[in-house]
Amino acid sequence: MTLNWYLTTSIPYVNGEPHLGHALEFVHADVIARHLRARGRLVRLQSGTDDHAIKNVSAAAVADVPVQKFVNFNAQRFEQLGAALEVQFDEFLRTSADVRHAPAVRSVWNACKTAGDLYQKEYAGRYCSGCENFFSSDELLDGLCPEHLTPPLTVSESNWFFRLSKYRDQILELIESSALLIEPKERRNEVLGFLRGEVLDISVSRPAKRTGGWGIPVPDDPDQVIYVWFDALTNYISGLGFGSNQEEYERWWASETERVHIVGKGIVRFHAVYWIAFLLSAGLPLPTRIYVHDYLTVNGAKISKSGVQTASPLDLITQYGADALRWWLLSDPARVGTTDFTIDRLVGAYNRDLANGIGNLVSRTLSLNTREKTWDITVEEPDSNLGQELLARAATLPAEIDQWIENYDFRSATQAICEISDLGNQFIESEAPWQVVKDAESGSRAAAVRFESTLDVLQRACLVAAIELKSFIPSGGHNLEFHLRSGERPPAPVFPRIEKGARRQ
Ligand SMILES: [Zn+2]
Repeated sequence: MTLNWYLTTSIPYVNGEPHLGHALEFVHADVIARHLRARGRLVRLQSGTDDHAIKNVSAAAVADVPVQKFVNFNAQRFEQLGAALEVQFDEFLRTSADVRHAPAVRSVWNACKTAGDLYQKEYAGRYCSGCENFFSSDELLDGLCPEHLTPPLTVSESNWFFRLSKYRDQILELIESSALLIEPKERRNEVLGFLRGEVLDISVSRPAKRTGGWGIPVPDDPDQVIYVWFDALTNYISGLGFGSNQEEYERWWASETERVHIVGKGIVRFHAVYWIAFLLSAGLPLPTRIYVHDYLTVNGAKISKSGVQTASPLDLITQYGADALRWWLLSDPARVGTTDFTIDRLVGAYNRDLANGIGNLVSRTLSLNTREKTWDITVEEPDSNLGQELLARAATLPAEIDQWIENYDFRSATQAICEISDLGNQFIESEAPWQVVKDAESGSRAAAVRFESTLDVLQRACLVAAIELKSFIPSGGHNLEFHLRSGERPPAPVFPRIEKGARRQ
């Protein structure tokens, strides 16, 4: 396994408050980072904000605030969300504020130009300002943008074009050979389908007048600004110091590393095709993996960033805690297909898996451990099938979780942890150690051995689960581990039951 891992989230445009989809992506990236660190890898996790999106310009105009001030304010809320979710970013790059970014973008641009891949062309096409993308007629859904279901604008202008067509076969080969891995395979197949069709060159600049001058000017052509996707995608290397800190850049991007982008399904093509082509053209190394998450709806409705917030992640954390929101985002959403968020589902998953599941098991285990001991015996391996099964499952849990994380499957990973607590709770019921201990206290040596062995199995299994849990829900996981190691009972449950609408204690 590779030692150095560089992980990125996509960088959201900041025309409003962060929504649940952003929380999902932040948490996914954080769990992979924590998991790999726990396995001894060196990890760098980067996120940030796409400040130069035209949507930011129009939202700032509506709010009647200068664009820079507007994006500064909103970007803060995304950083706040990361902190509230206990997500640890090593770098949070803001494309309009970080002095390293624009020079890096110009440098990639110039490299593409030197390669002969940029040319000027008069262009008319159908453009969705929501996507900041041109669509061909067969990509439209009944004449509407497939993403926003709004009619595209017919735009006619002179733009710089990038020779995407030139790189089609090369990118196809990279993905078919898995040199560039895309998970899940459904998303990989979509990209392959796109590449097997006709791939046209793409426009990579916009008239500066249309953006009000907001954006990075095209080198030697100040009437044009660089297409926001060309600009935004470059954050993945500008944040490493491409062109400003060669050593760091090479350490994470231009050596034997895994370079992983975590993105939503709506922007796979930008990452798996456009970004790869820009890098190939500029003669730079490529990412090695793209992990694609699906969409969430809230109470059955599509999440709209500019619309009414029905489930603000910051509010959910205030009310139910970071553990509860993280746990839902990891355990419930489908790997492929839209998942609906409701408060009932969040509360249900937390109470079932954490409060009644592992939390209850650890609490029962710790309360057994507080007995005054009048015996001196050696613990034995369990003779019950359940006890043996529990230990066997605990022993394989870390490797199992490695595999699920490798497959970008958090639902299965969290399920594996729940299986330990389910088995543990069954085991404790069947052993009834609170009965056995009475016989031990009356002097039965066999009962004492049985009691201590049961306790030993429970402690070992719980500890493995708690250690693994730390990558998923850091606060709760650390808390469980601390109490299991110290044998000290927590003054209050680590995972107190929560109720819909009730304030958190
Ligand atoms: Zn659109």
